[in-house]
Amino acid sequence: MRRITVYCGSSGAVAPVYLDAARETGRTIAGLGLSLVYGGGATGLMGALADAALESGGEVIGVTIDKFNSAELGHRNLTELHVTDNIQDRKAKLMELSDGIIALPGGLGTFDELVEGLNWVQLGFHEKPIGLLNTNAYFDPFVSLLDHALSEGFLYVGPTDLFISDSDPGRLLERLGSFRPKMNMTERWAKQARGAEEQI
Ligand code: AMP
Repeated sequence: MRRITVYCGSSGAVAPVYLDAARETGRTIAGLGLSLVYGGGATGLMGALADAALESGGEVIGVTIDKFNSAELGHRNLTELHVTDNIQDRKAKLMELSDGIIALPGGLGTFDELVEGLNWVQLGFHEKPIGLLNTNAYFDPFVSLLDHALSEGFLYVGPTDLFISDSDPGRLLERLGSFRPKMNMTERWAKQARGAEEQI
C-alpha cells in the first residue's frame, strides 16, 4: 500500500478522544511512509488528521469541491489538492487514488463515503481493503445494523467479510495491508437469482 484514503468527521464539537484518534492516525500513516488522501477539509477530525500527518513529514493529498474549499473550511497547506466538479466525482477520485480505505468516526458525509465503498465491494467494482477505526466503540451500532441486515437476508456476506475493525490506528493499518474482502461475485449473483426464483 502506498496511499491510504481516510474518511472522517468534519465536526470539531466532539469528545477529545475522537480528535486524538484522528491525530494518531495521521501520525501513523506518515510514520509508515504512506501518503494520506482525504477530503481536504481543515475542520474537525479532518483537520486534526491532516495537520498531524503534515507535522510528521507526511504527504497529504486533498480531494475537494469548490463549495468546501473556502478560507474557513478548506485546508491551505496540503502537499497536493484536487478540486473536482461535483461530489460524485470527488468520491470517485478519493477511491481511485487509494490502495486502502479507513473510516474514522464521523457523520452523514463519512457514512455516505463508507457505505458507498462497502457497497462497491459487494457489487464487485473494487477489492480495496476497508478498515474502521472503532474509537470509543463508535461503529458498534453500525456493525449491529449490518448483522441485522445479514440475518434478515438483505446482505450477501457478513461485516467481517467486507471490512476489518480495530481501535488502534497502527494495528488497523498493519491488518489492512493483508486484508482482502471475501466477496465471491459468482456466489452473490447466484444467491440473488435464487432469491428471485423463490419469490415466483
Ligand atoms: P461528516 O462525516 O458529515 O462530517 O462529513 C465528512 C465527510 O464529508 C468527509 O470525509 C469529507 O469527504 C466530506 N466533507 C465534509 N466537510 C468537508 C469539507 N469542509 N471539506 C471537504 N470535505 C468535506
